[in-house]
This record gives sequence, structure tokens and C-alpha cells, in this order.
Amino acid sequence: MKVKFLDLRAQYESIKDEIDSAVKRVVESGSYILGENVSAFEREAASCCGVAYCAGVASGTDAILLGLRACGVGPGDSVLTAPFTFTSTVEAILRCGAEPLFCDIEADTFNMDASKIEGALKKNTRAVLPVHLYGHPADMDMIMGIASFRGLKVVEDAAQAFGAEYRGKKAGTCGDAGAFSFFPTKTLGALGDAGMAASADRGIYERIKLLRAHGLAGGECVESGYNSRLDEIQAAVLRVKLKHVDGWIEKRRRAARLYSELLKDSGVSCPVVKDYARHSFNYYVIKCDRRDELRHYLGMEGIATGVYYPKPVYLQKAFAGLGYGAGDFPLAEEAARITLALPIYPEIMPEEQAYAAGKIKTFYGGKR
Ligand SMILES: *Cc1c(COP(=O)(O)O)cnc(C)c1O
Repeated sequence: MKVKFLDLRAQYESIKDEIDSAVKRVVESGSYILGENVSAFEREAASCCGVAYCAGVASGTDAILLGLRACGVGPGDSVLTAPFTFTSTVEAILRCGAEPLFCDIEADTFNMDASKIEGALKKNTRAVLPVHLYGHPADMDMIMGIASFRGLKVVEDAAQAFGAEYRGKKAGTCGDAGAFSFFPTKTLGALGDAGMAASADRGIYERIKLLRAHGLAGGECVESGYNSRLDEIQAAVLRVKLKHVDGWIEKRRRAARLYSELLKDSGVSCPVVKDYARHSFNYYVIKCDRRDELRHYLGMEGIATGVYYPKPVYLQKAFAGLGYGAGDFPLAEEAARITLALPIYPEIMPEEQAYAAGKIKTFYGGKR
């Protein structure tokens, strides 16, 4: 048997007619940039997320960048984030001209450990940037409490957490701004690059809209911005998918429950879900011994897996100049060594999951 890590074609096949006709309507309309699909998607996504305002942008990375800038982050400031994340979280901070700071993560959720925020702040820290890794929200009450006490802005990297919830509120809508990615592999995926920034604050939202279109207002550039618009074709595709996404997330949760059941007593640790959280399972990530050996073995048995991420951000080549080094955040370094993402997507079959879980048991059963 072969188990794919992800099957984007299967999702397309399930809604092919809707997608094809939505794309065709845009092509025939002659309106390709910031037209009716973008504004309709923004309204529909805002209602789906329970937030006042959403602005479509070109990518999740840009959503973080624009969110930070709209919150006033710029050169001379620092921004505190988690060291165990996709590099683009840190890239967005650097692109604002700000300095990234890190604090260690929680061993169970892999998210920023809120109890370590205070110790990591500097005088010039302007914002906190929690990442809701894999679709499990960070502890937002703790983070918002510290931020409000210290006068910091909070921008959430919800790139992997569309549809996840923190105490009944959608991830990405708790802070001053939230950034979503619609990269094809995310829970809500476009047919190319796309992203969105959410905010309850009209001023922040207006500033994001200004910045995504070159900072142009009243015929002149009032603030140097970017070309970072969501285009009409992607917005039309996302409008179709938005109608299905709740069902897809439920299927991800069901698949996650099945894995956790199948992997009981297998020798690996399954994902933890805190009582304040509803996980959206963009990824299903286990903790395991001899990770690389297991991954190789599963690959030989036809089961594709992923590692998110093999190195904490501060140990990657491009960020060597930030002044951090090996040993600085032991839990992030451990997570990079022992985590493995198993195949998960709405269309995965229970038999495929059972096959993968069986092979994991065989791997440990034989060699423990
Ligand atoms: C995917 C991702 C991003 C970036 O999103 P893009 O749309 O690819 O720019 C940022 N942060 C995290 C945690 C991500 O997983």
C-alpha cells in the first residue's frame, strides 16, 4: 500500500465542477484584481472567523508582515516569537526592519511558552508574535494578559490554524491582528499563493489595506507599501472552498482521533490537545525515538511523512547573525529532533491510517 502525505488532487476532484465554474466566471468577467470575489471572500471569511475585518493579501508571510507594520512595528523595534516555526515568521519580522527575539516552547503543544515571555522581552519590544503550530492554538489568555500589562501588540501567526479555536474563539482573532496562509498545503488552500490578515480594529485593517496596494491613497503614495493583493481567481476558489472547510476540518479531527486510538501503546506520543483548544490538525505530529530511522523505514514501506521543522529557526544559516546558538532553547531543539508529521488530510482512508499505524508498531515492536 502507498500512503501519500497529502492529496490535493483528491480534494479538487471532490469539488471539481464548483471550482472550474468559479474560475471560468472570473476569467470571463475581465476583472482580475481587487474585484467582487476578493471583497465577498473577505466578508465571508470574516463571518466564518467571527471577526470584524479581513483583508486578502498575497501570502501568509505578507499577512504577518502587514499585520506587524499595521501595528506600528518598524526599525528599532523587536518582536518576540517562537523559535520552533516556519522561517517565514522570522522573515516577516526582519522585513519590517525589526529584530526577532525568541523564548522557548512548551514540550507538549510546541507553542510559545507564555511563562517565558517576560524574561525574553527587551526595552524596545513592540509586539509578541505567537504561532499556532500545526493547528493547536497558543495560550492566548496568558499571552494577551502579559501583552496588555507590558503595552505590547499581539500579531498571531495562524498560518496553520484556520478553523482552530481558543476557548471558543477562532485562532487568529484573539490578538490585534491575525495572519492566515492559504498556501495549497494548508487546511484552507488556494490554487497557488494567497493569504489573509484579520483584525477587530478598523484602523489596523485600513492600514493593512493601504499597505497591500503600495500605500496609495488619494492619488499619491502616503506610506511606502507593497504589491500584496489577493487576486480574483484565488479569491473565487477560496469562496468555494470556504463552504466546505468546516466539514474538512471535522474529517481531519476524526482522522486524528483514529490515529491516536491506533497508536496507543505503540511507543510514540500522540498530539496533546489542551482544554482551552480545538485543534484543526493541519498536521498530525507525533513525538518519537529514533525519528530519522522511523521515517526512513516508513518511507520504504510506502508511507510518506514530513518533518516540521528539522532545525529551530535560530540555528538555520540565514539567521546566524541574530546572536543565538545551540543550547539556547532546549525544548525547541528537542522538538526538532523527535517530531514527525504523519499523513493527514480530509480524504485519507481509515485503512491507510491503520496501515501506517501498524508499520509504526512493527518498527518499535521488533527493535525495542
Ligand atoms: C505556511 C506558513 C507561513 C507562511 O505562509 P505563506 O502563505 O507560505 O507565505 C507562515 N507561518 C507558518 C507557521 C506557516 O506554516
